[in-house]
Amino acid sequence: MTTEKHGFEAEVSRLLHMMVHSVYSEREIFLRELISNASDACDKLRYEALTNSDLLKDAGEFAVDIRLDKDAKTIAISDNGIGMNKEDLISHLGTIARSGTSAFIDNISGDEKKDVNLIGQFGVGFYSVFMVADKVEVLSRKAGEDKAWLWVSDGLGEYTISEGEKDGCGTSIMLHIKDDADEFLDVHRLKNIIKTYSDHITFPISLISKNEDKEAKEEEKSEKVNDGTALWAKSKSDITEEQYKEFYHHVAHAFDDPSMTIHYRAEGKIEYTVLLFIPSQPPMDLFDPARKTKVKLYVKRVFITDDCEDLLPGYLRFMRGVVDSEDLPLNISREMLQNNPVMTSIRNAVTKRVLGELEKKAEKDKAGYIEFWNAFGPVLKEGIYEDFALRDQILKISRFESTADKGLSSLDDYIGRMKKDRDTIYYITADTLQAAKRSPQLEGFKAKKIEVLYFTDPVDEFWLQMVPEYEGKKLVSVTRGSADLDDKKKKKKKNTAELDALIGVLKTNLGEAVKDVRPSERLTDSAVCLVADDNDMDIHMERILKMHNKLEGGTSARVMEINPDNPLIKSLATEAVKDGSVDALKDASQILLDQAKIMEGDLPDDPVAFASRLSSIMTRSFG
Ligand code: ADP
Ligand code: MG
Repeated sequence: MTTEKHGFEAEVSRLLHMMVHSVYSEREIFLRELISNASDACDKLRYEALTNSDLLKDAGEFAVDIRLDKDAKTIAISDNGIGMNKEDLISHLGTIARSGTSAFIDNISGDEKKDVNLIGQFGVGFYSVFMVADKVEVLSRKAGEDKAWLWVSDGLGEYTISEGEKDGCGTSIMLHIKDDADEFLDVHRLKNIIKTYSDHITFPISLISKNEDKEAKEEEKSEKVNDGTALWAKSKSDITEEQYKEFYHHVAHAFDDPSMTIHYRAEGKIEYTVLLFIPSQPPMDLFDPARKTKVKLYVKRVFITDDCEDLLPGYLRFMRGVVDSEDLPLNISREMLQNNPVMTSIRNAVTKRVLGELEKKAEKDKAGYIEFWNAFGPVLKEGIYEDFALRDQILKISRFESTADKGLSSLDDYIGRMKKDRDTIYYITADTLQAAKRSPQLEGFKAKKIEVLYFTDPVDEFWLQMVPEYEGKKLVSVTRGSADLDDKKKKKKKNTAELDALIGVLKTNLGEAVKDVRPSERLTDSAVCLVADDNDMDIHMERILKMHNKLEGGTSARVMEINPDNPLIKSLATEAVKDGSVDALKDASQILLDQAKIMEGDLPDDPVAFASRLSSIMTRSFG
């Protein structure tokens, strides 16, 4: 029989090196990882068998066995789940297939102390076995196939694969325990670990060991260790915080702690149980374009799928956990799940409930809610434009920074702080909070103490298109349209002849490059700024679309606003009434426009020309 030698993918080797030399104090998690994988494998086979009952021919009752042999210094974890063939072994146990694991690797710093903490933060799945074993043998047979395969490795860069012998499908993983890990060769210790981390696993977990009782007839004794009832089916009062946490780790394949747990049973026309968690750390694939939800669907305690788009909307894709329906048929296929009316009502009700729970948290636990918002706000806000029915509910729990510098506020907070006679919610959109704060367009609003909200997530531009007003107050961008900041009673200042002359000169010199030139009400310090005309696209939105090559036609010309009180504008205005001013102010006109673009965070249209104009002006003044 041939034995093939394979090298681990380079990244796996790095990871294994860490495991082999690990000083991580909670090495016991290896058992949780193996049991979790074994349970997943049983779930997968049960689901596959719904459409192909032949697969269960030789399977028997699903179970996980853990066999301890103190003398041989081995622990073997066996399941009768889906199993792995040769290709599976190579791709699942030889490469980094999981996003979580590759994120882990990206974060490895080389500083042992820091990296050890990462093990706890990211978890490392199967590879954690090399913290306690110096040799691992995986014997597996895939359901529906005849051949079994043996994968062997000492975790030092290589593994071998050869054909093996195995009755029935499933996987058996034999760990040869390291000398310094012999604490795990103890029945009581193993029992404790299983109880702590894996009590909620719904398949029976049996611990098999040599019978210490010399009188007994059997050489071995076997004991079922876990409780085995689905955690979500228990009543809340019977579940400890710890148990929720461990279940979350298992169901989410995550290692942080849940920041929120939502557990309830819906009774009525449609019956189902919900146990959902909000992570405390954003999952790595949160901004994956596929926007997949990961919540698992069960039917009467039987796992159906974790790939069910209709269970929760994409903007709640950070949620993890389980929905268990009493009404769907057990043999439901992926196709039957699509557009299924039971699924639709569950989805609508669960979504509303989650938003309601978030609203409660926002009221009761402000600091906790802000943490949630910082992690998941940008995702939740996708719902404002996607989910017409729940738009107002999502807007209500959305939070934004503002010029009031009061930290994150709700729209209701903003309205509460607004002067009675105002009917406008002002905002500015920008790429970052710093960029927003620097915007010259804010000057007049600050001077008049009118609060402006900062919208700094790309998603903000999109929902803003759908939401013209909130609670009867118009939402208005400060970089758009004419700003009417003065109290209605006060008369507008009249332009001087000089200012009018300057406006004329600028219009002639800039031509098509600007849509209009006008005196500004929003500037108090800066000389110029650009604003979008009432009917044009917002400047920031245009930039986002341009970045993604989604802009049809070119960028639109902007309105240039000049500040009549600014010293530079004043002296330019004095020049503007003199003969030949159009030519004399050619460079100055262009520089004013370029300056406004730079303040927007854009480049001048022609940076080289900009630099040469600036040099010639500096030469004139210093020369
Ligand atoms: P994860 O469980 O998060 O996917 P692991 O590192 O724990 O990551 O496992 C990697 C992969 O190896 C699993 O996704 C699964 O495909 C495969 N695997 C591990 N253990 C088993 C098992 N007992 N039976 C079948 N497949 C397994
Ligand atoms: Mg796993």
